[in-house]
Amino acid sequence: MILALALGRPAASMAQAAVALPAPPSPTVTRPLPLPLPLPLPLPLPLPLPVVPPAWSEAIDPLTIDDEDFARHRDPHEWTGLSVRRLIFSDGEINWTVWRIVNEQHRDGPLWVLPHDNENATFDAVLVALHSYGGIAMAIDDRAGRMNYDATSGASVDPNRHFYDAIPLYTGRILADLGDPPRLIIALHTNTPGFDPSLSLCPIAGLGGGGDISIRLCTARYIPHPSLTHSWPFDDDDTVALVPYAVDGDWRTGFCARQLSMAGFNLITERVAMSDGSLSNYALFHGLQYINFETRERGSDAVGLANARSRLVAMIDRMMTLCGDQQLLALRPVAADKGRR
Ligand SMILES: [Zn+2]
Repeated sequence: MILALALGRPAASMAQAAVALPAPPSPTVTRPLPLPLPLPLPLPLPLPLPVVPPAWSEAIDPLTIDDEDFARHRDPHEWTGLSVRRLIFSDGEINWTVWRIVNEQHRDGPLWVLPHDNENATFDAVLVALHSYGGIAMAIDDRAGRMNYDATSGASVDPNRHFYDAIPLYTGRILADLGDPPRLIIALHTNTPGFDPSLSLCPIAGLGGGGDISIRLCTARYIPHPSLTHSWPFDDDDTVALVPYAVDGDWRTGFCARQLSMAGFNLITERVAMSDGSLSNYALFHGLQYINFETRERGSDAVGLANARSRLVAMIDRMMTLCGDQQLLALRPVAADKGRR
């Protein structure tokens, strides 16, 4: 109960956070990456958010910029009311490029985070979602790949395993638009079909695959709550919502978890003892509202992208109806998604 109360409190204001900030790390602190440390339980008040100087950025024209995601979206109507900037910064030896896309008429929406540049349907879905619910999207650009890399060692760096308090610059810049009170964070992913059966505590004969997220997978961390109807978009075991909760807590304290489960979602609740550097874990330990939508990767041809995009958008729409800010819901009727089911 103490934990639930603590997590329910608003995160520290930016002003408070600035006072409590540790000194920035020297460039060598990020190599090797800090080991995740177990957190004392019950958790203290949510940890303060980092406050960092803004990244260098430039306005870009989405209709002409040389990038594979934007190249799929050259219709000016898709960009009406949206502005795009390219942020470039260096986090030690790691260089980051991030697209920041803002609904200029409705900035007060979620913070949309797209960590993986190879998951193309997430980019297509977030353009729909920005028109529907406003807000600001941060999409990491990795030259169409999943991973970034360390320029010195060449080691690959997963953008969604880099959210540590010991690396405040990266997190501070990705979450710079959270605001106070912090807005809801919605992360979007696609994933490889199925899962490695050796990972599962509830293996099912005949089921397997190469991924690591599925509603059929049970581990100490990932607890599945499958849809009872398996109706679209949950006729696919890789189409899930995921919310974190604390190891000694109750999964129903996860953002919208109870409502999503009752509404027939494929829901994974992530039971977190120590951070793995993912944004979901970072959000939990900082008292931030967070939800992740995942769907099966269906390739980057038009049919595959439209299928995956419409599943992501359907989950977003249903979640927003159940748990979203009612003022944001009022925006939705004016949004036009030609591909929406
Ligand atoms: Zn991903």
